[in-house]
This record gives sequence, structure tokens and C-alpha cells, in this order.
Amino acid sequence: MNLLTFDIEDWYHINYPATDFSRYDREEDHRSLLERLERILALCRDLGAGGTFFVLGRLLEKCPRLGERILEAGQELALHGYEHHLLRDRGPDAFQQDLERSITVFQKIAGRPPLGFRAPSWSVGRDSFWALPILDSFGFTYDSSIFPIKNFLYGNPTAPLHPFFPRLNGRSLGLLEVPVSILVWGSQRIPYSGGLYFNLLPLSTIRFFAGRRLAQGGYNLFYFHPWDLWARPRELTRRLQARWLHLRLGDPLSKFTAILRRFRPTAMAAEIERLKGQAGSAAPAGDHDR
Ligand SMILES: [Zn+2]
Repeated sequence: MNLLTFDIEDWYHINYPATDFSRYDREEDHRSLLERLERILALCRDLGAGGTFFVLGRLLEKCPRLGERILEAGQELALHGYEHHLLRDRGPDAFQQDLERSITVFQKIAGRPPLGFRAPSWSVGRDSFWALPILDSFGFTYDSSIFPIKNFLYGNPTAPLHPFFPRLNGRSLGLLEVPVSILVWGSQRIPYSGGLYFNLLPLSTIRFFAGRRLAQGGYNLFYFHPWDLWARPRELTRRLQARWLHLRLGDPLSKFTAILRRFRPTAMAAEIERLKGQAGSAAPAGDHDR
């Protein structure tokens, strides 16, 4: 099973340490974001790929066209939070307010509530597992916010590597958690399917890892952002100090195209029943916590 996801946000929606770009929200008209989205939708159409587009509620409010175009293209619209805040910085009360606001604007555009959620910067971690019962209570069918390795910004190095119904305080939720796909190699967990890892690995390696993950009985969950496939917005490259975050190996667009041709991914919603069928109950930090 191969799943394709996009986090639809603008260039300043990043949570790297010591980068608060939120002031740009006032001046940005999101025209270049919409252009990038159109190119992504056209690529998916031409390559016969389905995708899930997790969009910020704040963006749907300011620029409903983003959500409308995703739906018109026959792709899945889902939520990426309200603003691009790490959940631990919001806390449960503010998170609930964010969801209420985001779901209201989502429903205006889609005519139905969202099925899926992804937290900004994969920020459902040990300090924010409280978000899972909240998402369940808001009626989400699935969440895809857990990154089962640890890097400088996010991650849960012991989280399950398969879809699961999160078990918290002895109770299993009806919400399905679909972690990002990670390859297990010996005792190592290796990310490969998006973001920095997709940028830094050669295409042949990504293809090999994704094939091996399928052979192990797992799924591939690819994830991208609007600026991943072409030159990055000038504002971002000018303002982001950590130059290594811009490193890329090979042309990202041809890598992306090759992966879509080889793996023919679909949207999360199209596979949700199959994912549920594979899921058991598990603690989000891993079953050693049982
Ligand atoms: Zn994001």
C-alpha cells in the first residue's frame, strides 16, 4: 500500500528553533502557494496519483480557493491544524479552540467534516498525546501525526511502525493513527519518504527502501510540502539561517515523478478501511509502556 500526502502551508509556516515568521501572515496573499498547489494537482492528475492534502485552517479561512481546488481535482482535503504551531506549545484548551475554528471553515468549503488530521511538524509526541482523545472526540477518522524516530525537531523513537488505535489510560480510541513509514534495518529505524530525508537520499536509495518496506508487509507513506519540488521561495532561503536545511541531492521534481510512477500512491481516505483492518490497539509511545 502506497499513500501520498502533502502538508499545505506557506513558506513561513515552519517551526525550526528560533524562527518565528508568523508576522508574515499579514502581508502574504498566498498567490505563489496557490500556483504551486495547481502544479502539484496537475502532476498528480497526469501521473494518476491520489493524494491527501492536509491544509491549515488559517489558510482555508484566508484563501478558500486552496481547499476548493483540491476538491475540484478529486483529491482528499484534510486538516493540518489552524496555525502552524507545535501542539505542546498550544496545550489542550487552545488546541480544541483551533479545531473548532478549523472544522467550521473546512465544512463551509467541503460540506462535510474532515476525516483526517496531521499536526504541524509531526508534533504529536510524549508531551502531547492528549491531542489524540481530543481528535477522537471531534470525530476524526484518522490522525497521521506520529514520526517513529527522533530528530532535532520532532519524533517518538519507540512509537509503533504500523497503523494502530491509540491506547491511553487503559482505553483504546476509535481514532486510527497512521504513523509515517519507517524502514527497519537490523536495530535501526530509517526514514526515507519525505522532507529532509527525501531531499538528502538518492532516488535509487528511496526506491530501494520503499520496495523493502513493502516486502516487509508495511506501507509507504510519502509526505511533501508545496516548496519541496521546485526552487524554494526566495523569502525562505533568505531568512532561514540553517543552510543545511536547504540541501538537496538530485532534482526533487524528477525524484518525485519517478516515485509516483513506480509506486502509484493513493489518498489516505481510499485505504482507510484496509489500514483499519491491519490495526490493533497500541500505546502511542510503544507497547513497552503497557
Ligand atoms: Zn506543516
